[in-house]
Amino acid sequence: MKSQINILRQLQELVLTRDEHQQSGDGSHLDQINKSISELQKKLQPQVSGIYERLYAKNHIVTAAMSNGCCSVCGMQVPIAQSQQVKLAQHLVTCSSCGRVLFEGDVAEARRVQDKVSRDDAKTGISRFSAEELMVADLGAATREKAIRVLADAMEGHKFIENADSLVTAALEREKVLSTALGHGIAFPHVRGVEGGGLALAIGISKKGIDWDGEMVNIVVLSAIPVAVSAFYLRLMAGLSRSFAKKETLKALVSADSPKALWKVVVKATRREVK
Ligand SMILES: [Zn+2]
Repeated sequence: MKSQINILRQLQELVLTRDEHQQSGDGSHLDQINKSISELQKKLQPQVSGIYERLYAKNHIVTAAMSNGCCSVCGMQVPIAQSQQVKLAQHLVTCSSCGRVLFEGDVAEARRVQDKVSRDDAKTGISRFSAEELMVADLGAATREKAIRVLADAMEGHKFIENADSLVTAALEREKVLSTALGHGIAFPHVRGVEGGGLALAIGISKKGIDWDGEMVNIVVLSAIPVAVSAFYLRLMAGLSRSFAKKETLKALVSADSPKALWKVVVKATRREVK
């Protein structure tokens, strides 16, 4: 049953990638994604397929990692007997509260670090997801991989995520499915399924520009996203994209010469779009 659960997880990631693309992309890769989705769906056993269809009709998040003994999407504690079943993965176990198919979360993906962002209720706007320490004013003429690496290291170094290596690997995997450069010189590399904390994002600037799968990119926004906030991330990404694409904002971002200056520009530019 483990392979069926893996197919469900891949399906979910592809569907959410398609959602992103429909929201922010130009629609040019939809055929390719749709083809991959229907090929994967054919690999589901009839009974699993039935469960998938039912869950999918309600919400595009159909699976949930079991993290610290809880469903990572709805937060409900999984009873011990059931959590053993999830670990064995001999048959499908669904969350008794939200109905999603549970799988054992990867310990390396979970964040045991103190969650610096979401527990501070006093914060507003972009400060809920990021901080001055996560601003990199000069990525240089880095490659796509190097840019993601520098931002992931900043996130790990300041304890926003547990493991930079696994974040980099997963972000590059995601890029292989579809480039996250969405026009205006902005790219949104990201990893979904980073559980155990809030959404966190780091921003890096390359004045010289980075070749991002054929597109020139000056602004890189790397995000670590708990699955439960996938839909929110789509809106956040669209809002950031609108904020940063303004001509004077782009200019201010690219000419910021320190993390402090960059953070100031980011906070000001996103004030309206990110509540
Ligand atoms: Zn649940």
